[in-house]
Amino acid sequence: MKMLAPRTMSISVRAAVTLSLVIGFLFLASGMAAYFDIKRQALDEALIRLDGQNRQVAELQEGRFTRLSAAHDHAKQLLLAELAEGPSPDDARNLDTLFPRDRRGGRRSSDRLFDGGRTPFGYVRGVGAYIGTEPDANQRALILRATRVAHAVGEGIRPDLKSLYFFTPDNTLIMFAPDREDKLGFYRKKAPGNLDFQQETFAKISTAALNPSRRTRCTPLVHILYDTSGRTWTTGCMSPVDWNGRHIGTWGTSLLLNDLLSADELNGLRATDTVLVSAEGMLIRHPRYTLQSEARSEQLLDLKQTRDPQLRALWQFIRSNGGKTFLGHAPRLAAHVSMRTIKTPGWYVLTIQNEDVIQAGALRAVARVAITAFLCLLLQGIAISLLIRRYVGRPLARLTERTRILTRRFQSDVDFPTSARPELDEVEQLGHDFDDMAEKLTRAHLNLEQQVAQRTDQLHRANVELSRLADCDTLTGAPNRRRILYDVEEQLALRNPRRLYMLVIDIDHFKRVNDTYGHLVGDRILTEVAQDARSLLRDNDLFGRIGGEEFMALIETSGPEEAIIVAERLRSGIGKTKRMFADRAAGQMTVSIGIANAQGKSSFAQLYAAADAALYKAKHRGRDQCVLEDESSAN
Ligand code: GH3
Ligand code: MG
Ligand code: MG
Repeated sequence: MKMLAPRTMSISVRAAVTLSLVIGFLFLASGMAAYFDIKRQALDEALIRLDGQNRQVAELQEGRFTRLSAAHDHAKQLLLAELAEGPSPDDARNLDTLFPRDRRGGRRSSDRLFDGGRTPFGYVRGVGAYIGTEPDANQRALILRATRVAHAVGEGIRPDLKSLYFFTPDNTLIMFAPDREDKLGFYRKKAPGNLDFQQETFAKISTAALNPSRRTRCTPLVHILYDTSGRTWTTGCMSPVDWNGRHIGTWGTSLLLNDLLSADELNGLRATDTVLVSAEGMLIRHPRYTLQSEARSEQLLDLKQTRDPQLRALWQFIRSNGGKTFLGHAPRLAAHVSMRTIKTPGWYVLTIQNEDVIQAGALRAVARVAITAFLCLLLQGIAISLLIRRYVGRPLARLTERTRILTRRFQSDVDFPTSARPELDEVEQLGHDFDDMAEKLTRAHLNLEQQVAQRTDQLHRANVELSRLADCDTLTGAPNRRRILYDVEEQLALRNPRRLYMLVIDIDHFKRVNDTYGHLVGDRILTEVAQDARSLLRDNDLFGRIGGEEFMALIETSGPEEAIIVAERLRSGIGKTKRMFADRAAGQMTVSIGIANAQGKSSFAQLYAAADAALYKAKHRGRDQCVLEDESSAN
């Protein structure tokens, strides 16, 4: 299918396309504005949600560690109070009952302490203990009091905190942890006789050297002591107990990685990571790095040394922010971040959401706007196209067609073919036809003007001829009586009448010529005499035929003598000329001439009457002569 070039599109399609483009551009602009607005809103809302979740996690953690710290404090107070009472005489017996000697050295807790049973201090369960060396009296008292306190306080903090233990610098550990799946079997049964955990992180952070403030401190994420597979991760918080200025032991609570943040606590924000980092830069929890049951080196979780680029970026972000509360976009992490600190363990809680998630949300909203806008655009394009075709296109096409028909009527030559040109739109076709018509009208107009000029010229010539015919005698060609009358009166008005003389010339006995030779000969003789008379006069003398065989001349002379001389020259000139009447009949024709002066005559009639009277005299006196009017009658 041949594609239509823009020029060949009909005006309605072009208008619809143009309008659609303009409106489309406006839609696009508003779509972009909407996109940025939605993105900003989405960002704001996402940040609020992010911060909400972060606050919730931080508060939960803070609460847990506050409770943990309070429980330790409580246990510490209780223990110190009981120790102040001093050793009891029953201690040795009770120790043997509850912590029988082990063949590998030291003592282990009896099964009933964990499985549940009566003891000197009531019903006890969930307790397991490892006693590395045989205790003396003070140590017996400490072990027994610590066991009681661990059970009493430990029961009180369940299920929020699942363990409470007390350990001493000489490798004795008493733990309350009834929920532990392994039933504390490691300490109660498996641990070797020479177990020394003083170099473990949880023990070291309780020493006066590493914990001078003697407050609760937590370990980073470490493998749990008894786990050799490296798959059980835990963090522990330790509160040292000093008595009489001596470090006698530590209250501790372990939190398994899985228990740090439960699914309920995370509240499920999509594509969001909740991360815990210790103040020392150890990763405590990260959903993609710290997986319970995954064997990894503890070193990998040291953000200060890790080679993982994302973890490095995470630590750099925390450092650059100075550990302060943060909410916003972190370009370094390509994410939106909410960060807080939990005071007791001194951890950072970060809630991180990939920026693409927010972007994608905004894009989805904009896509909905864009699809709606596109459909609107399509509909309005069709509507505009139909409306323009209905109200502009069709009337224009009709006008164009009519113009073409009109133009064809003016078509006068083949140089200007009038036809519809498919490469033109309606308006261009209309303009083209209009130019065509204007050209043809101009040509027609010029043609008409030429014709009018031609006809005018012909008319003028006809008029001139008509005028000539009206003024001339048809037989002789001399001016006729009407013309003479007009000319004589004009001369009478213009010239000095004293110098003007009228000669009336009459052929003598002309009737005989007619009678003898016929009228045709008469006509010819009449014509010859007229021509002779004219040739004998001067150019500026008037001459014409008055009627019949009578002619007239008006001459300007110095006086009557000269007038007579001119008349005589006429008479003798005509009279001497030989006339051929018939084949062998020749002879002369004489003329009589009456002469009158214009002086005193105001009209042709008066002058003619005077000249005619003189002519009458000439006839009367015998013809072939010139007679001047009676002098007496002349003025
Ligand atoms: P007179 O010497 O007295 O003038 O005699 P005449 O015969 O010339 O005059 P008359 O008045 O008796 O006759 C004039 C004649 O001239 C009469 C007429 O037939 C003739 N005539 C007048 N007009 C024409 C004309 O146009 N053609 C011819 N062939 N004859 C004409
Ligand atoms: Mg006559
Ligand atoms: Mg005559």
